[in-house]
Amino acid sequence: MLNQLLIHLIIILFPIFIQQFFFNRKKKVESVSYQVVNGLMFGLSAILCMAMPVQMVGDFQADLRNIPIIISIIYSSGKYVPGIVALAVAMLYRIYLSGDAVFLSILISFVTVGPNFFFVKSFQNYEAVKRIIISLLLSLISAFVVIIAFFIYILTHQESLEFVSPSFLNISLLVAASFIGMGISSFLNEHIIESNLLKLELERSEKLKIVSQIAASVAHEVRNPLTVVKGFLQLLKESVDDKKKDYLKIALSELERAEYIITDYLNLAKPQADQLELIEVSSFLSSTLEIMNSYGLIQNVQMHLNCNQTDLFVWADKPKLSQVILNLIKNGVEAIPDTGEVIVNAYYRHEEIFIEIIDTGKGMSKEDLDNLGTAFFTTKETGTGLGIMVTIRIVEALNGKIAFESKPGLGTKVVIRFPSAEPVI
Ligand code: ADP
Ligand code: MG
Repeated sequence: MLNQLLIHLIIILFPIFIQQFFFNRKKKVESVSYQVVNGLMFGLSAILCMAMPVQMVGDFQADLRNIPIIISIIYSSGKYVPGIVALAVAMLYRIYLSGDAVFLSILISFVTVGPNFFFVKSFQNYEAVKRIIISLLLSLISAFVVIIAFFIYILTHQESLEFVSPSFLNISLLVAASFIGMGISSFLNEHIIESNLLKLELERSEKLKIVSQIAASVAHEVRNPLTVVKGFLQLLKESVDDKKKDYLKIALSELERAEYIITDYLNLAKPQADQLELIEVSSFLSSTLEIMNSYGLIQNVQMHLNCNQTDLFVWADKPKLSQVILNLIKNGVEAIPDTGEVIVNAYYRHEEIFIEIIDTGKGMSKEDLDNLGTAFFTTKETGTGLGIMVTIRIVEALNGKIAFESKPGLGTKVVIRFPSAEPVI
């Protein structure tokens, strides 16, 4: 009995070890074929458990098939496919095994395992400890169902008591094995999740380092000649005919774009705030919106500021803060294909100043949201993929917090929070 349970433990752990080799990139989790393979592995693990059942008492057999199936359902990064595949494979095998109790056994599996599908979406958002506790509870519930089946078996088979008593040891061993099996599995899964996060973080900071170095060396050097060119073009504009004026206008606006990008690079190299000052949020935002207004008009986008309080103050570096707001408004405008709105809200809540930038644009998929803030992530032809990254770094340097919410087709909401400052009277 003990031998068999140990074998079961190994069978349960094998897909997780294999997973470690595959599960090293977030992109892979998104691919359906990966999810199917994943489900098949856990299904196979369940099949192996069923192929070597543990003899409990009489001809009552039990196994730990539910553990790999539960793991495939809950530790699936919010995907339904692995769990469905694993459950389907296991059930098909059960039908293939046939026997008297085939439908009862399938029914029991569905009742025990089925409700776990409700967890699929929320499970990944819990903290690691909570996830482990939930997994352990689920393993106990599944063991409990086996115990009930076991008692029903005893009652219906009228086994003599002496015959039954040693099997209580068996049942405790089975419960212990499913508890331990689930415990080790969820620990391993947590370890995989954590090391993947670390890996991503490392890649991110490595990229950031390279970008910052290039930024520091190039951006500053390029900015001066640009300013000179811009100055001379403006002088030229006074003295040329209308047609050429149009050309100059285009040249100047492209120069502005270049300056914009360079500012992003410079901020990347040096996100620290140097010149903190007390900023009155409402008038600051309205003057920032003013800058973007003409840009919005060209793109058929209406802009509104909702802030009726003039007593909102934050300590911040003005040029950096306006870079943040400009970047976010610009993204909002760019996300709107035809016409739409960008709304900026500002308000005070719990010692914090909230600034929200909401657009009615095309929104982002979950995958895009995950990529947000990675260097060079852009879905635009002329995008740099630096705006959000710089924005996040500046907000953090100013002791603020930033969060993105987005629904494809509906729009995006960015919420920034800063500690509220007391006005100096
Ligand atoms: P860029 O604007 O140069 O592409 P950003 O870092 O500003 O770089 O944005 C990265 C990507 O994030 C964009 O290409 C876009 O796909 C997505 N994004 C950012 N903000 C929004 C938004 N408000 N609505 C929809 N998508 C957005
Ligand atoms: Mg941008």
